[in-house]
Amino acid sequence: MSKSNRRVLCIAGLDPSGHAGIITDIRTINSLGLSCCGVITVLTDQTRTSYHSSHPVSSDIIMEQIQHIFEEGQIDSVKIGMLYSAGTAETIIDLIDRYQPPNIVLDPVLVSTTGGELLDPDAINILKEGLIPKIDVLTPNIPEAERITGNKISAIEDMITAGKNIAGLGCRNILIKGGHLEENSIDILVTGNDHYKIRGEYVPDHEFRGTGCVLSSAIAVNLAEGMELQEAVIGAKLFLEKARKDPVFDDAGTAYLNLSGAGSD
Ligand code: PLP
Repeated sequence: MSKSNRRVLCIAGLDPSGHAGIITDIRTINSLGLSCCGVITVLTDQTRTSYHSSHPVSSDIIMEQIQHIFEEGQIDSVKIGMLYSAGTAETIIDLIDRYQPPNIVLDPVLVSTTGGELLDPDAINILKEGLIPKIDVLTPNIPEAERITGNKISAIEDMITAGKNIAGLGCRNILIKGGHLEENSIDILVTGNDHYKIRGEYVPDHEFRGTGCVLSSAIAVNLAEGMELQEAVIGAKLFLEKARKDPVFDDAGTAYLNLSGAGSD
């Protein structure tokens, strides 16, 4: 794998099981050959099949850590994941305003696959009105896009409408992931007034957790490497498909996404 001096800042929650969250983000970024630094927004207690609780990290320490990372050196993209609290979202808005980093990708995680609420209901308006307008690429799945827009999505046309509505909030590019529609491997990328259908290969799943973390982290890597948006999204989708198609099984038969990518992990 070629060596890159690009660096991704990852701001996300800790899922100690490693199935999702910042552990998955860092593994994805490293496996694609970039270094990253990471700031944890919230400590959660989760497993592959269960969600127990969330414990936000104080906004003061999040602020100081991110500030010191920006002051220390170059950041070529930012991946933002679980925020949980309104205070954390506000802190990140302030920091984006202050440091204006390039290539900000936000995976607006609201609910885990296991049913845990990953964003305090008080934070949804701050997310919509304060943070989303500052984002370069937002990657909602269908339930997240429904919650952000308030509209039900049951077909591709609804995905396009939802993407345009979110663009109306000020977000530059929106990738709506179609996986929650029956056997749908089509994602919709809305960019300005245009939209594109990005077809993937439908991969029968082992109910992996963390697929959204992998996709958004891989997009952040590709943008940091200077790819155009469509190329970055398609490359990230291919990486995720590969990770799903060829899982790693533990001794109990549990399937894990195979993030070894080109082989450095
Ligand atoms: N937990 C944390 C800390 C996360 O960051 C995320 C996703 O970003 C999730 C859980 C949700 O993962 P999943 O929807 O795959 O369960």
